[in-house]
Amino acid sequence: MKTLLTEDPAAAAALVQGGALVAFPTETVYGLGADAFNADSVAAIFHVKERPADNPLIVHIACHDQLADIAASIPRSGQTLIDRFFPGPLTVIVRRHTSLPPAVTAGLDSVAVRMPSHPIARRFLNACQCPVAAPSANHSGRPSATTWEAVRDDLGGRIDAILRGPPSEQGIESTVVDCSQEIPVLLRPGATSAEELVAVLPSLRVPRLAESLPARSPGLRHRHYAPRASVVLIKDPKEAQPHAAHAFIGTGAVQDPSGFGRCHIASDVKEYARVLFDFFRQCEAADIRTVYCQEVIGSGVGRAVMDRLRRAAAK
Ligand code: AMP
Ligand code: MG
Repeated sequence: MKTLLTEDPAAAAALVQGGALVAFPTETVYGLGADAFNADSVAAIFHVKERPADNPLIVHIACHDQLADIAASIPRSGQTLIDRFFPGPLTVIVRRHTSLPPAVTAGLDSVAVRMPSHPIARRFLNACQCPVAAPSANHSGRPSATTWEAVRDDLGGRIDAILRGPPSEQGIESTVVDCSQEIPVLLRPGATSAEELVAVLPSLRVPRLAESLPARSPGLRHRHYAPRASVVLIKDPKEAQPHAAHAFIGTGAVQDPSGFGRCHIASDVKEYARVLFDFFRQCEAADIRTVYCQEVIGSGVGRAVMDRLRRAAAK
């Protein structure tokens, strides 16, 4: 299959309406989209990504009206978050509408919903005129794609089109909050910080980073964000051993940056989040064997960075 490269959101949307799989830019990472109500297209997403069938997809909407097509009801906690954070990098889980194909939610009776804020994503989703089911546009288990080139490297020749846009501004996935149960729970830290969420929803349960909630979010069971190099977490940049096959990423300076095959010193945690997945991919291309990643304070977007680093480092 030849993968079409386009910069035209309307052309990309027409393909989705015809049942095609189209990757598109968002403010978090690139998504691999299909008409959420087309069961064959949804099945194709799992097939091309080689995504485990028990890992549900996020359904992307352009406007609030589309919520009624995919959700059975919106609890008060969910509505509070939707009113404050949509459009933006937050995913809210609510009870699903029975007409949604079961594969979208991996058979669960809840559905994950997000309304992206990225202008190209919004033009694309508006033109689709249907909710769009979309996981991250990477091969399952690989770092999420934050550039259209990364999408092409992972999925080129296996998907119908890539809607080209700039590199993702956040570079890290959306925050996922489960509002389908009595007490809302943060399932996945992401680009919207826990602090911002708690400010408007004081009842939100924010698990400690080490605590995992696999039963509530099937996707968290699977190994994620795995670069081919081995990832070593360090507290102090001095712990990184300079070598041509070693890389360093962090917010503190190493003594000898040129002694590393790849080195990125981010000016703050936000930049760390933005470049992390692309850095992992660059390290692979450069045959780096060991990536030293400096730990950050687990607040704000640092919580999401630490979550991804731990997953990448997990054996
Ligand atoms: P990704 O597509 O890589 O952004 O992953 C989507 C994330 O949302 C995964 O961690 C899923 O487990 C989670 N997710 C999606 N739908 C649900 C749901 N209905 N219940 C719990 N978690 C969900
Ligand atoms: Mg993913």
